[in-house]
Formats: sequence, C-alpha cells, structure tokens
Amino acid sequence: MNFATSIQNAIKKFMGKTVVDEESVNELVKEIQKALITADVNVKQVFELSKKIKEQSLSKEMLKGISVRQHVIKVIYDELASILGDSYTPRLDRHKVMLVGLYGSGKTTTSAKLAYFYLKKGLNPYLISVDNDRPAAKEQLKQLSEKIHSQFCTSEGSCVDIIKGCSHGAAKSDVVIVDTAGRNAFDSDLAKELKDTYDEFRPDEVFLVVSADIGQVAGKHARAFKEAVPITGVIVTKMDGSGKAGGALTAVAETGTKLAFIGVGEKTDNLEVYNSERFVSKLLGMPDFQSLMEQMKEIEKNINVEESQEFDLDTFYTQMKAAKSAGSVGSMLGNMLGQMNVDKNMAENVDEMMAKFEVMISAMTKKERKDPELVRKSSSRVARIAKGSGTSEKDVRNLINQFMKSKDIYSKFSKDRGFRNKISKLLKGGGNVFGM
Ligand code: GDP
Ligand code: MG
Repeated sequence: MNFATSIQNAIKKFMGKTVVDEESVNELVKEIQKALITADVNVKQVFELSKKIKEQSLSKEMLKGISVRQHVIKVIYDELASILGDSYTPRLDRHKVMLVGLYGSGKTTTSAKLAYFYLKKGLNPYLISVDNDRPAAKEQLKQLSEKIHSQFCTSEGSCVDIIKGCSHGAAKSDVVIVDTAGRNAFDSDLAKELKDTYDEFRPDEVFLVVSADIGQVAGKHARAFKEAVPITGVIVTKMDGSGKAGGALTAVAETGTKLAFIGVGEKTDNLEVYNSERFVSKLLGMPDFQSLMEQMKEIEKNINVEESQEFDLDTFYTQMKAAKSAGSVGSMLGNMLGQMNVDKNMAENVDEMMAKFEVMISAMTKKERKDPELVRKSSSRVARIAKGSGTSEKDVRNLINQFMKSKDIYSKFSKDRGFRNKISKLLKGGGNVFGM
C-alpha cells in the first residue's frame, strides 16, 4: 500500500468514527506514523509530527464553527504541509537554474516547462543542454524550445565547454536553465559531471527532479544528489499518473529543501508552482481543504441523523463505548450485558471486545452499518469484513448477533421510561446511553 492510500484509509476510518476521543486520535496518529515511516521519512521528524498532532488535536483551542473531527483533520493537514515546507514562491528576477535527476525523471521536459513558465511571466528564458549521455537528448530540448519559442544553446565537448560556449547568449537573457544528463542510478561519474557544471555555471537554483512514481527510493537518490551539488528545491513530476506522492515527501524531507514545482502532465504548460495546501489535499485524497470540510460536515450530519433516528451498528458501538467510559457502571451494566447475553469472557475483556467491534464496524460499508441484516444474510460480506478487519468470520457473526440482541433490548427499554431514567442517571457523563 502506498503512502497516500494508507493515510487516506486511516483518515476514512477516523472520519467514520462516531466517537472522537484520545483513543481514536492516538489510533489515527499511529497509522499516520506507520505510513510516514514506510515512506522513509526521518523517524525523528515523524515523532515530532505525531507529538504535535496529538497535542493540538486534543487541545481545547479549536477554530470556531468546526467540529472535533474537522479540527483533527485540519491539524494533520497543517502538520503535513509543514513537513513538506511552505509554498514556493518562484523567483522572477534574473537568475540561473540547473536541473538534476535520474534518467526519465522528467528533467528535459521540465526544463522546457520552466522556460515556458518564465516566458509567461514576461521573462526571457534561455535553455542550455549539457546532456552528452544520450545522443537524442540535445535534440529533444532543441525541439521543445522551438515549440515554446525559447532560445536554446548547446555544443559539442564537455559540460564545462558547453556552458562556456553558451555564456555569451546566456548573459543577455533573464532566466538561464541548464538541463543535465541523468543515470539509471547515481554514480561518481555523474557526481563529478554535475559538480563541474555547477562550478562553471554557478546557478542560483538547483532543482532535483523526482518522478512521483519512484516512491520511497526518492530519499536515497536525494541524498546522493545533495552530496554532489547543493539542491535548493525539488520538482516532483508525473503527479498526474501516480498516487505515490510519499516519494516526493521523502525526497524533500531527506534533502531538507523545499518543494518548488509539480509536474502534472507531459505538456509544456503542465507545471504548477508548489502550493502546500493543494499538494497535501492531493496526498490526503481530497480535492481541496474547503471541500474536505464540507464533506466532513455532510458525514457528521449523517451520523447525527442516524443516532437520533434508529438503532444501528454505529449507535450500538457508541453506546457500548459510552457505557464503558461511564466507569463504575456496576451491576446495572452487568445486568444489561447479562441480558444482552454477552459471553462472560467478552464482558470481562470489554476493552478487547470494543476494539474488535470497532475494527469490524470500520470495515463495513455505511449501508451495512445501517442495516446489519445485510451482513447476516451474506456470507461473502461476512468474509470481506473479517478480512478487512483482520478478525475471523466467527467474530463478525458474533458482532451481528450481539447487535441483534441489543436491538431487541433497545426497543424494549425505549418503551420503558422508568428504566430509561434510571440508566440515564447511572451513566450520567458517560454519554447518551441507549438513545435516552
Ligand atoms: P529526463 O530523462 O529526466 O530528461 O526525462 P524526460 O524529460 O525525457 O521525460 C521522460 C518521460 O516522462 C517523457 O516521456 C515525458 O513526457 C514524461 N514526463 C515528464 N514529466 C511528466 C509529467 O509531469 N507527467 C507525465 N505524465 N509525464 C511526464
Ligand atoms: Mg533529458
């Protein structure tokens, strides 16, 4: 599972929770940690991030008008954005840019995209190819520069010779962009070539071009490149075709530099200035933060409606949990559990049981939660839920049976006002137990 998917799953699970408390936040943070560490992100950075998410999620200082659930997602959103660095502001003064990266990462395409970007900003770009490695490389950039009407320069000879040969023309333009050769894997030969080019060219910006689809290896490459030349920013290409944005995250974390641009297609205008908000939205699988907030409001509305209207699996779970957190519920809860016919072992391990219920319920669709009969009637649903929650089919059937029994008791109790009042009092502070 790649980085974006694991984070998205963790968030989906979290958003589906009826109760947001320390435990559910911890669980979410744990899953985010796992995802970040799998993506090679610096462990220290992961723990700092986790600490901040926990502290801020559970702090009382929330934005006005948003719920706890939204608040938690917003904290994660902000913290991820801060790990990726601030949004990039492109230089619009006269400056020199050098692009480095592996074969096929998109250097040549990106060189042309950048030239086009600056051209549109009113600057006069100048493209130089020092790629002596592939015979067609110079021709590729030449053709691209013709397409966008940018100046282009190259020559035979070493990288240093090419830069020298092009320096006269370069001096007359605003932005000079050097496209370098790549390798399948970084080696000392390339390192020397890049160092020599850097020393001769003296660029203001050195962009490492990383393809989003290389995933976690990006960190290793970033480190190697950074030893050769001082990387000032990362350009992640092929964001359009890959969900593996974790690689980019790693590259940035590893180099300690900022994301600068994002490539989102093969065309010359498929280049975006890196904007942390937009990028994290993609990472989290949300189109943008605003619509995420709206999406969550919708979810919450549904949850509230479900709770107040009928007794479904979510209600069942919330109430079990409320009953548990009420603490000394004593014999009354004992009685209820007895009536629910909860297996003695299970009742003794309420924690364990709740945890199991929770994962099983998270593995269900919304429809199934509302109508657990669907699950009871379908062995393929039972099998899917068991698999999705890492429990057994017996566990799933057991949950459904417990639910059915509780539902009976619920309807009986909800007609008996005296009993309802008693329980309400008993569980005061523990939540709206059994819908009363
Ligand atoms: P280089 O070897 O690093 O110079 O890589 P190229 O610039 O030649 O690009 C390699 C391939 O990736 C080409 O087919 C490009 O069209 C493609 N490519 C580059 N950037 C992007 C991008 O942002 N999105 C997509 N879909 N393809 C890209
Ligand atoms: Mg190239």
